Amino acid sequence: MPTALDMPTMPLSRATEPSSTATVWHPFTQMQEYQLLPKLNLVSGKGGWLTDSEGNRYLDGNASIWTNVHGHNDPDLNVALIRQLNLVSHTTLLGASHPVAEALASTLARLAPPTLNKVFYSDNGSGAVEIALKLSFQYWQLNNQSAKQHVVGLTHSYHGDTFGTMAVGDSGFFHDRFRPWCFKTTHILSPLCEEVNGKVLKEDTIASLTALENLLKEKHTEIACVILEPLVQGAAGMKLLPKGYTASVSKLCKTYNVHLICDEVFVGFGRVGSLIVSTDEKADPDFICLAKGLTAGYIPLAATLVRENIYQAFLGTYESGKAFFHGHTFTGNPLGCAVALENIRKLEVLMSSGILKAKMDYFGNVFETAFSNHPKITGIRQRGFTAALDLDSNAKRKTHDPYHDLRLGLRVCLEARSRGLLLRPLGNSLLLVPPLCLSEDELSYLIQTTRDSINAILP
Ligand code: PMP
Repeated sequence: MPTALDMPTMPLSRATEPSSTATVWHPFTQMQEYQLLPKLNLVSGKGGWLTDSEGNRYLDGNASIWTNVHGHNDPDLNVALIRQLNLVSHTTLLGASHPVAEALASTLARLAPPTLNKVFYSDNGSGAVEIALKLSFQYWQLNNQSAKQHVVGLTHSYHGDTFGTMAVGDSGFFHDRFRPWCFKTTHILSPLCEEVNGKVLKEDTIASLTALENLLKEKHTEIACVILEPLVQGAAGMKLLPKGYTASVSKLCKTYNVHLICDEVFVGFGRVGSLIVSTDEKADPDFICLAKGLTAGYIPLAATLVRENIYQAFLGTYESGKAFFHGHTFTGNPLGCAVALENIRKLEVLMSSGILKAKMDYFGNVFETAFSNHPKITGIRQRGFTAALDLDSNAKRKTHDPYHDLRLGLRVCLEARSRGLLLRPLGNSLLLVPPLCLSEDELSYLIQTTRDSINAILP
């Protein structure tokens, strides 16, 4: 069955036979199209590289969906994992504890802004956000302010795929069909920020902060919380937020007695140079949600950091019914906690030595040089180890070339794959999210191969 991708010119030098017998239903994937595309079966990894079942090597340019920090098969992380594996792989946190969960919670509390010193574990980013939302909702009930139920988010935000997180996100195409089952949320305009290689090209927070303040002024007695992704809205296509914006929102939330949830699922753990972004941004949120890079991409683990006074409000006798009735089977898995502790130890070394900053500066430099004046690219954004390129999807309208509406992002990614680089598209944009361990040579390879692939598809 032909699709828009069935172009005779598609250069897939390592293509394998399409299979029509997939049993795995892949996430965010049109399976009918997937059946026709060349298959990729990844069997092993080392550092920033992955190897497929045919022995081909690929640079992991999307950090295995934004999770990988120190590379695959890292000796130190492996040792931490095996040490824990030899003790016990899983014990429950329901009514019991284990030393690695305790140690990781203390470490996270040390890294967070001082007032956030309680940690509620879960096992994925959506879960961490749902927990923050539910805690906020219940807190206001316990505090005799049960009218405070409404959530305020930002336009273009993404917080996960469960119903609560879909309700508070604004991901259009991804989630619109589920709106009838979602509670109502108000989305205020995101701030404007264009930045590459540390140079701010455009910035405006006034429209966004004014809209937020007006809303809070008028409706704060009905608003439970504001939720945002500090510094970068990843799934929106790496849309940047101005530095300092989160601190300004945090001040408004304090003024109007509304919780602030910082969703750091994507930006935390070194991605933009901070372990915990809220701390470096000098924001004072009530909740911080962590996942993805928390375990350096090894094990599903998530955490919601919570302000002490919120925790206190849930205390009472069993009969008071104040307990938080929420928990997942693999909450706070010991293997995940053990790897997270070693991940943080290694990240602190990378940061205090200046190595991470030097790599990010190098990445920003080569990215800007390669793409700032590229004729087929209409927009570029970069901060830390996050970057996006918007491909010129209007090429046809201007020049009558055959590329309009032909899934340019996917096509460039398939081309990159044939050249030994894994990237993820978002419509007609390409997202570059390298593992933090890449060397300068590997970062140059990432940029050069991306450029060559764009030039091959959009000559
Ligand atoms: N929040 C943000 C900012 C995210 O980027 C993501 C995932 N991309 C999530 C929440 C959801 O995390 P998960 O996929 O682990 O549920």
